[in-house]
Amino acid sequence: MPSLIRLGPAGLGASIGEASISLEKYHRLGIKACEIPFTYGIFIKEDKHKKEILEIKETAKKFDIKLSIHAPYWLNLNSKEKKKIEESKARILQCCRIGELLGVEIVVFHAGFYGGMDKEECYQNIKKAILEIMHEIRKKGWKIKIAPETMGKLNVFGNPDEILRLVRETGCSFCLDFAHLYARNLGNISYREIYDKFKNFPKLHCHFSGINFGDKGERSHKLTPESEIKKLLSALPRNKNITIINESPDPVGDTLKSLKILKSL
Ligand SMILES: [Zn+2]
Repeated sequence: MPSLIRLGPAGLGASIGEASISLEKYHRLGIKACEIPFTYGIFIKEDKHKKEILEIKETAKKFDIKLSIHAPYWLNLNSKEKKKIEESKARILQCCRIGELLGVEIVVFHAGFYGGMDKEECYQNIKKAILEIMHEIRKKGWKIKIAPETMGKLNVFGNPDEILRLVRETGCSFCLDFAHLYARNLGNISYREIYDKFKNFPKLHCHFSGINFGDKGERSHKLTPESEIKKLLSALPRNKNITIINESPDPVGDTLKSLKILKSL
């Protein structure tokens, strides 16, 4: 049985004008997923890029490449300032609006910081904001899903239990970042243990890369060592819809490395 695991990079290539060429190139390389990084800004504009949006959507569809979006880093659904929460929600919704036009299934985001707050209070604030965003999505009739990500730093909201509780209590999706969780557990956890926490879901959207960490968890992403790719891919089932986006400094190179390893296992 062929593997249902889709591998792809974070990144659309050099420029928005060449995005559909990048996708065609990805297809020739065997890549089946691509995450559009709005991490430093939403660089695809609804009014300015009508033609490109259509091209990206159709090229991805033609080559069966699953598109996702990573929302900007600058957001915090647990800010003490109401204005900042509203701006954060607006950024996620803007990603959803563009994503809907692009045929994207899922918008991934970093939900927020504990900010010294009681963790239950923080959870409730983030839950409330997520429900409000989902309400807007439903009102607009969009199909796109929002996915808070499991995070790598100990002072950032997003351990597996918090994310699972959000999924259960709001019906949102999630992004499982194996590298982050490895770092958050200071290396004292296996990919299999991480997967097991989420194994009851029929579909998984995941992130992976090499990672440096210290006593506060994640420090930085690094190139993905072959040994870690092997460990991760060996820990995952083949008969489940799993998308793994590589976020290393060379996401395409590391995706190709991963594809090779996947074939060899
Ligand atoms: Zn992320």
